[in-house]
Amino acid sequence: MSESRFDLTGRLILVTGSSRGIGRTLAAGIVASGASVILNARDAGALDSAAQQLRSDAPHARVITAAFDVTDGDAVVDAVRSLESEHGPIDGLVNNAGVQHRVPLLDLEVADWDRVLRTNLTSAFLVGREVARGMVARGDGAIVNICSIQSDLARPSIAPYTAAKGGLRNLTRAMTAEWASSGVRINGIAPGYLNTEMTRALVEDPEFDRWVRGRTPAGRWGDPEDLVGAAVFFLSDASRFVTGQVLFVDGGMSVVV
Ligand code: NDP
Repeated sequence: MSESRFDLTGRLILVTGSSRGIGRTLAAGIVASGASVILNARDAGALDSAAQQLRSDAPHARVITAAFDVTDGDAVVDAVRSLESEHGPIDGLVNNAGVQHRVPLLDLEVADWDRVLRTNLTSAFLVGREVARGMVARGDGAIVNICSIQSDLARPSIAPYTAAKGGLRNLTRAMTAEWASSGVRINGIAPGYLNTEMTRALVEDPEFDRWVRGRTPAGRWGDPEDLVGAAVFFLSDASRFVTGQVLFVDGGMSVVV
């Protein structure tokens, strides 16, 4: 297979939750593969700084920003409509925005359950549905849902996150069942434990840090950079007959006990 099958030149790709962490690194990797990118988060200031950094690292890249809340259905409809009317069709979407909330299940408030479910799962339906309207009509498009090792495995204190990421894995299949016949491919990436702002407290906890290193066959925390290859694969023609799949990028954590 030629290298060019991984080329994203000419495509416009929206990455939700890309002001920092995994989303920001994926956006940089996508730009390096030739695509234009739309960065999204709620904090417009953080988004602008991320865009400026990306433009200075890749001066020829087209970097667009769109500050909106992926859990707000009306805001999502407005944002996707105005982005497509101003910049053209969105060819690829990475549903990456997510949030964690650590508390024992018996102490969990309904409002926190709802917030975690809406941010990690409902958002992928809301943004995915709006972007897929155009993809289905054009007969082409790729969606990547950022799942988690918790799509398959549970740990105490993160029940809503585990439920949401398990749901996101099955939403990936449900989207495939409905949209694959229209040329849209939908896949998931399930990262293991990565060192980002979301996991900062865990990285700084010596006991948890030891547990992650010992429990991960690769013997280390993941880095957002570790996910770029999988994302480019799923967004590009290299994966043109792959849909409904979730690839675990976890240093082997999900296959050992
Ligand atoms: P971070 O907390 O570092 O970044 C989250 C990003 O999402 C930020 O840009 C944030 O910006 C944005 N965001 C949060 N809520 C919303 C919202 N309602 N609307 C729009 N944007 C939002 O997280 P990570 O980079 O660590 O995680 C990214 C994804 O990867 C998540 O889905 C997470 O569950 C998943 N993941 C992470 C792992 C890890 O070890 N770090 C492991 C497995 C999966 P703002 O707050 O300004 O909106």
